[in-house]
Amino acid sequence: MPSLRAHLKSEAIHRSHRHFISPQGDTGMPLKVSEYFGSHTFDFRKSDRISPQLKKQLLECSVTGTPLTKEIAEQVADVVTEWAIGLGATHFCHWFQPLTGGTAEKHDAFLDIKDGKAIERLSASQLMQGEPDASSFPSGGSRSTFEARGYTSWDMSSPMFIIDTMPGKTLCIPTAFVSYHGDALDVKTPLLRSIDALSKAAVQFCHLTGEKDVEHVMATCGCEQEYFLVDRTYFFSRPDLVMTGRTLLGASTSKHQQLEDHYFGAIPERVRHFMEELNTELYKQGIPAKTQHNEVAPGQFEIAPIFEEGNIAADHNQLMMALIKNVARRHHFEALLHEKPFSQINGSGKHLNWSMATDTGLNLLEPGNEPHTNHRFLCCVAVILEALKRHGDALRMSIAGHGNDHRLGANEAPPSIISAFIGENLDNIFSSMLAGEEFCPRAAAMLDMGVSNLAKLKKDNTDRNRTSPFAFTGNKFEFRAVGSSQPVGFPLSILNAAVAEVLHDTNHEIKTRLDEGKDIEQALKEVTLHWLKQSKQVIFNGDGYSQEWVQEAEKRGLPNLKDSVESYALFSKEGALSFLTNLNVYSEQELKTRHKVLLKKYLTSRTIEFSTLKDMVYQRVVPAAIAYKKQLSSSIKRANACGLDATVEERIHQKVAQALTTLVDKIDMLDELTSQLSDEIGESAQLISSKLLPLSEEVAEVCNTIESTLPESMWSLPKYYDMLFIN
Ligand code: ADP
Ligand code: MG
Repeated sequence: MPSLRAHLKSEAIHRSHRHFISPQGDTGMPLKVSEYFGSHTFDFRKSDRISPQLKKQLLECSVTGTPLTKEIAEQVADVVTEWAIGLGATHFCHWFQPLTGGTAEKHDAFLDIKDGKAIERLSASQLMQGEPDASSFPSGGSRSTFEARGYTSWDMSSPMFIIDTMPGKTLCIPTAFVSYHGDALDVKTPLLRSIDALSKAAVQFCHLTGEKDVEHVMATCGCEQEYFLVDRTYFFSRPDLVMTGRTLLGASTSKHQQLEDHYFGAIPERVRHFMEELNTELYKQGIPAKTQHNEVAPGQFEIAPIFEEGNIAADHNQLMMALIKNVARRHHFEALLHEKPFSQINGSGKHLNWSMATDTGLNLLEPGNEPHTNHRFLCCVAVILEALKRHGDALRMSIAGHGNDHRLGANEAPPSIISAFIGENLDNIFSSMLAGEEFCPRAAAMLDMGVSNLAKLKKDNTDRNRTSPFAFTGNKFEFRAVGSSQPVGFPLSILNAAVAEVLHDTNHEIKTRLDEGKDIEQALKEVTLHWLKQSKQVIFNGDGYSQEWVQEAEKRGLPNLKDSVESYALFSKEGALSFLTNLNVYSEQELKTRHKVLLKKYLTSRTIEFSTLKDMVYQRVVPAAIAYKKQLSSSIKRANACGLDATVEERIHQKVAQALTTLVDKIDMLDELTSQLSDEIGESAQLISSKLLPLSEEVAEVCNTIESTLPESMWSLPKYYDMLFIN
């Protein structure tokens, strides 16, 4: 009898491609991307429906924070309503980022009744403010159900958008989400505060260094997003994928990524169809998707947009993750954004590329042709190194999560130790400075490829180092330890704040030197050296995956917070996060909230994993193993009855029987330990990370032994072989 698995496999193999028609103009010709880019977004800065006078007033409110009057908001609301209805929208919503890790939206119809007649309308107050029930979102206990008020407030800096990947179009208004008492209950509010804090400090820095026209400095951010695609028929047959986003068991295939043949390989046709449609949706939302390729693991892919201002990049990354999932479904794929969907092969991350750019068009991390004489640039790098030294632990905490715990330091992602790779050139410049020597630049290096008709290549300032969690890559830093499913707003807020703090101190140091009569070049050189002397231990250009580095880092006194539970302990460590409250990026209460929410999320996610694992063991693995044992017993019996040799059957029988006993013993232990979990979330999280998680991994290993021993036809769960290679 063909098994369910065989049936699924046949379905996946014979699935026809979804042909997608890209946007067309009136003549029926496909539109160029530039002709429809941002067509589904509304940004008052760019809209020609907004009068210059109104635009000026709005900009004033947006930049200086002057309160928006009802009259102004009314005018915007009218224009937006007309635009949205013109595109077929029937509803609007405040789109926000609660502490769930995802986004939230509550749709309201534009429909209203006026003088007994149906009309479409969005009022000024509906645009500016919403009031979702705050007690239904994670608040770490800071909100009780009886004092549930929460407010969403229009974020004027991020464009509104209409998603039309689903029936029923809705205008989404990006908003911040705060409690009745004004505490941030979301990712966006502290991010916006950190962006302000960074801008203030960096503007002052620019002024001191002679850039007097600078009024604003942006954190720029580009997120490279990795994900897996799995055929949906397999997805729904794997309770672990549906419930937890990762496979909790599964024997690895003999070939996976060892041959390194998937990375940058030709993209499978069905995936290309998906990518084309995804790009189109992203372009409509004004998300500048730029690169796409196969990633290292089979079934794994990456997409990266052109960088944008931090707040918009953070919104866009949330929207991009939603669209990846959404469009994938149309192609009968499920997109897995989990950090570790499959064991034995690479998991997924999200490189957060980061720099600082002035409103006059300067990238403060642009080294130029002669980095050694670019004192402002060198000082900025030194500032960032000092920020890493001071707050590496906070950065580590900001990317902690149950998913990322499987990835960091697992020979596929940077370790939990936060260090910086700055490349040979910068390293030489800094070493000369520290040694008090003159730096002699080498002539621009050209690569000798030994072939005459290839274009000449100039060597980059920095090589790449995949093993570094925080790498300087040409004119930006790349924070590479972020997890693929995480909202970038949280780590981004911590990074901005850490750099803002050191920039404040830098400005002070510079001013002192200027007051002493030194010129700015001298002051910059001295301050750079000042920070370098204190923070050089965070520079590491070697192999971050090696065991030697772990020991070396310990000698250097760099923190190594191994998992989420160790990382979250930072919230209770005296003074560890006070820079965030000093800069008003987070309040004490908001940090407390986050501590509880993060621990609770860890606890709940793991608990769901354990109970799903138990279900799968009892409902899938145990019955399959028993059935096989039965089959073997009867053939042993028959062989014995006829006087035939049955030693092979007996050996396999014994192997399965042994594995089964071990499995049930371990599951009982898991059950017993799970029952010890309590409302004391700190202790429970500790129990999980020290005992339950390792035990669940042992359970998985036994299941994998059984999976590899049982005949194909007796295993009902889709295998790694099915899920990773058939696309
Ligand atoms: P790589 O694979 O070399 O890391 P990608 O092109 O995949 O390069 O991704 C690099 C990311 O860095 C892109 O999103 C890019 O837009 C972004 N980036 C480039 N310059 C900056 C910058 N100044 N600030 C922030 N991000 C940047
Ligand atoms: Mg890349």
